[in-house]
Amino acid sequence: MPSCSAKGGYNVTFMQISTTLAETLVDDARLAEILTNPGFGTYFTDHMFTVEWTPEKGWYDARITPYGPLSLDPATAVLHYAQETFEGMKAYRHDDGSVWTFRPHANAGRMMRSSHRLAFPEFPEEDFVQAVDELVRVDQRWVPDGAGEKSLYVRPFMIATEKFLGVRPSQHVTFMVIASPAGAYFKGGVKPVSLWLTEDYTRAGRGGMGAAKTGGNYASSLVAQQEASGHGCDQVVFLDAQQGKYVEELGGMNLYFVFDDGSIVTPATGTILEGITRSSIIELAGQSGHKVQERQFSIDEWRDGVASGRITEIFACGTAAVVTPVGSLKWDGGEVASTTEGAGELTMKLRQSLVDIQYGRAEDNFGWMHQVT
Ligand SMILES: *Cc1c(COP(=O)(O)O)cnc(C)c1O
Repeated sequence: MPSCSAKGGYNVTFMQISTTLAETLVDDARLAEILTNPGFGTYFTDHMFTVEWTPEKGWYDARITPYGPLSLDPATAVLHYAQETFEGMKAYRHDDGSVWTFRPHANAGRMMRSSHRLAFPEFPEEDFVQAVDELVRVDQRWVPDGAGEKSLYVRPFMIATEKFLGVRPSQHVTFMVIASPAGAYFKGGVKPVSLWLTEDYTRAGRGGMGAAKTGGNYASSLVAQQEASGHGCDQVVFLDAQQGKYVEELGGMNLYFVFDDGSIVTPATGTILEGITRSSIIELAGQSGHKVQERQFSIDEWRDGVASGRITEIFACGTAAVVTPVGSLKWDGGEVASTTEGAGELTMKLRQSLVDIQYGRAEDNFGWMHQVT
């Protein structure tokens, strides 16, 4: 990647991206129809971003091309040993028509940490943000109107693309960005999710991949999610692998417990995924005077806290749902009731504060928003 000397005398490196636009774009009528009810992860924009890496060349051939299938040799490493990492973020349309992403440098930094865990080369933070910006710019007509909490979900991912069946870090790596319009997570009002506590499965052990955003963690969560569904629950909760005692997180969302004195507890990092929504909530809650503790939180504390009334609200958070209230918790032979009828007051307040910043309806005191167009 070429570097140029900026006016201030320091070096700014930037990535040259070649752009080949699609000959036919999804037409306006069809696009309007898709954006009316986009669902999640079903429709994809007209273009995609790709850049490749080898040890000899470093990152090369950054390009935006028409969206389309990849042609992969059946021996491609990622298909066999799951050397893969990904990110998830959203682009939001503000009322004045401008388009913004939320804390994209945090996603870029997390991808670098995930990459390290998966023995991938690092893709530079600035290039990550540039790649996302460029794709969103090229496909900006796919960013829905902000009304009703719609957005364009952006999925950067890195895969091992060497054609080789041996076990070692791939010597050919591909980083891509695709995007998909997303509807409101909650249609017809925010509703609590019911949880199943799995005692058979864990998601991450000490020294494992729990803190990395990698497909393997999701593959390992599917059977537990099936178990949850089989028991009539929406989502699964995992406990720590060592003692089976401490609450970790859901399959793809971090957890929060609100106490009657206004303090908030969330499980400490280590084996959980460090959600960007999680850290934003810690800051938002702290700013509005709530004491937030990141610490080990046992399943007994959950049960006893709800029984005694000391825990007044429980919620989960992640990019897709922003904040979702947690209802009942069930396990084989037991149950903890909901703390609230519907959504708790602080849960909804925090959710609203975050959504208002994301859609440009409240002042962004933290400097979280990044303008794309
Ligand atoms: C992505 C993810 C989250 C939420 O992270 P956000 O950055 O807030 O979207 C939580 N848990 C897991 C396992 C995840 O992969």
